[in-house]
Amino acid sequence: MAEGHVIGVDLGGTKLLAGAVGSDLSVIHRTNRPVLGLTQDQLVQMVADAVEEIRTAVGTPIEAVGFGIPCTFDTRTGMAVQAVNVPLRDIAFAEVMANRLGVPVIVDNDANCHVYCEAKLGIAQGASEVVLLTLGTGIGGGLFLRGEVYRGWIGGGAELGHMVVEMNGRPCQGNCPNWGCLESVASGSALVREASLAVARRPDTELGAALEEGRELTGPLITELANAGDPVAAGAIETIGRALGVGIVNLLNIFNPQVVVVGGGVIAAGELLLAPARGVMMERALAPGKDVVRVEAARYGPEAGMIGAALFARELAAGRATGAIEARPS
Ligand SMILES: [Zn+2]
Repeated sequence: MAEGHVIGVDLGGTKLLAGAVGSDLSVIHRTNRPVLGLTQDQLVQMVADAVEEIRTAVGTPIEAVGFGIPCTFDTRTGMAVQAVNVPLRDIAFAEVMANRLGVPVIVDNDANCHVYCEAKLGIAQGASEVVLLTLGTGIGGGLFLRGEVYRGWIGGGAELGHMVVEMNGRPCQGNCPNWGCLESVASGSALVREASLAVARRPDTELGAALEEGRELTGPLITELANAGDPVAAGAIETIGRALGVGIVNLLNIFNPQVVVVGGGVIAAGELLLAPARGVMMERALAPGKDVVRVEAARYGPEAGMIGAALFARELAAGRATGAIEARPS
């Protein structure tokens, strides 16, 4: 067993990425779909359609499908309970997909899939204690502790993006009822907001000119102009980086990880983001944790969640326990 293909699916707040992964872990076919503006039923249909497209392209039987979705879970019931940035709530996602697709499926939080990929194959390979933050629409969090993905008691855990860093801070986004979450100050959404405020004060910049030309204010545009030396774009990334650093201080003091991995779309900014984060960490975290940790960009980039989900699917096909939610067609 476990010699054929599996499919990995990474569902983010903005887009879905799916791919067939062979036994050598190479990605054979890929597809992506926009996520914004869908209802729960439309989202489930879109996800199933994306898997079917990959399955048709592969042409040979698929052993299992792994899904990374940005939700909390109740592993006692197999339910995906709550999502901040996608319209999923109280849905038996694994069971629904297993029955629709007619194959065994495994479902985990998208950031758990991401940390699993980086710990098994990526920048944190060989480390037993890994903390991961993915900066995209929101902030996903993954913990790999004592050599395993840590999900808390019943699968509601490791929502590291919703740790409070400003007790009286701004309301968090999406369906989060909290204020001052790390997600509200260090996500891709926060980056766009910071740049928007800054460029309004300084329209006489490259970023101001780009917006004048009708370009949309997005994370990739901010990163592009920051790399080209635009002070407003670089300043917005530094602001996000320092906020990220405060989150890392908390995680470092609590978990004493070997590696902190930063992934998601915003990590395209590279050292423009990580250098200020490390600076805050060295100013504010406790020794010895801060002196021995590595704070690194994810190696697998936008495909990490998809590959992690495929790794879980391969474990399922091989009959090995993972702790993630599994379902077979009834
Ligand atoms: Zn929150």
